[in-house]
Amino acid sequence: MIRTGEIAEVKKYVREWKRQGLTIGLVPTMGYLHEGHASLIRRAREDNDRVIVSDFVNPIQFGPKEDLAVYPRDFDADCRLCESLGADLVFHPEPEEMYAPNACTHVKVDSLTEHLCGVTRPFHFQGVCTVVTKLFHISEADRAYFGQKDAQQLAVIRRMVRDLNFPIEIIGCPIIREEDGLAKSSRNTYLNAEERKAATILYKALKKGHEMIDAGETDAAKVKDTIRSIIGTEPRATIDYVEIVDRDELQPIETIDRPVLAAVAVYIGKDRLIDNFITGSLNEKE
Ligand code: AMP
Repeated sequence: MIRTGEIAEVKKYVREWKRQGLTIGLVPTMGYLHEGHASLIRRAREDNDRVIVSDFVNPIQFGPKEDLAVYPRDFDADCRLCESLGADLVFHPEPEEMYAPNACTHVKVDSLTEHLCGVTRPFHFQGVCTVVTKLFHISEADRAYFGQKDAQQLAVIRRMVRDLNFPIEIIGCPIIREEDGLAKSSRNTYLNAEERKAATILYKALKKGHEMIDAGETDAAKVKDTIRSIIGTEPRATIDYVEIVDRDELQPIETIDRPVLAAVAVYIGKDRLIDNFITGSLNEKE
């Protein structure tokens, strides 16, 4: 497995692979890899001749008061996992390699970034779209893999790819959870033992919401109220948002009469966790 932090080095391999007519799958990550990331890498391995994993804590997607400095990192462990899953190349650049000091170009998706996490993280998706655009160009990937865990990110990237005619297929992958339902996340390491227990409230609440919709409830307010009241039973939890939006446009809806995304962001202590479910299919072809 190739490990490199240099864009030119990645491009050298990509050129050679393209010359041989091989397909390339890209899995963009911020490292500190877990089973959620592994599921994306496995899927990429199945679908493509070559797999590139990017491992980069992207500074421009963090707000000034967010956790950039303390975001967990363990590059050696990440490489061991990538190698065991059959990845061909891990790209681990320094921020200076990705961003020239005078870089002043950004990719911004409107409308889909107005609600949900866009409210409290106004520059987050611009940072994500910019780095993902760069990674698409560097890797020349045929397919890129993103988790449903970050549902808004997945929808925003799909829209960016459609709107800007990027020659790449976006594959959404289901949320991987701990046994008690908590969605796996690198940020779960921030939680102490009591907070870790409390964090299961996100899944419990969403599960109930999902059951209501499956049983035919079409009033979004009723489903959101139920989700809120279940989260409200956990004293360590503070709700940032509970939303039900159109699955593709990410606009809030009142009546559940089409595929929806139900998403929550909840502070457990001082750490903000997100989780969601969708109705309908994750990928168009599935
Ligand atoms: P991150 O390293 O947190 O930026 O995540 C990199 C990719 O892995 C994103 O596409 C995430 O949606 C995906 N991912 C993270 N956690 C999970 C999970 N529990 N299940 C599925 N995908 C995940």
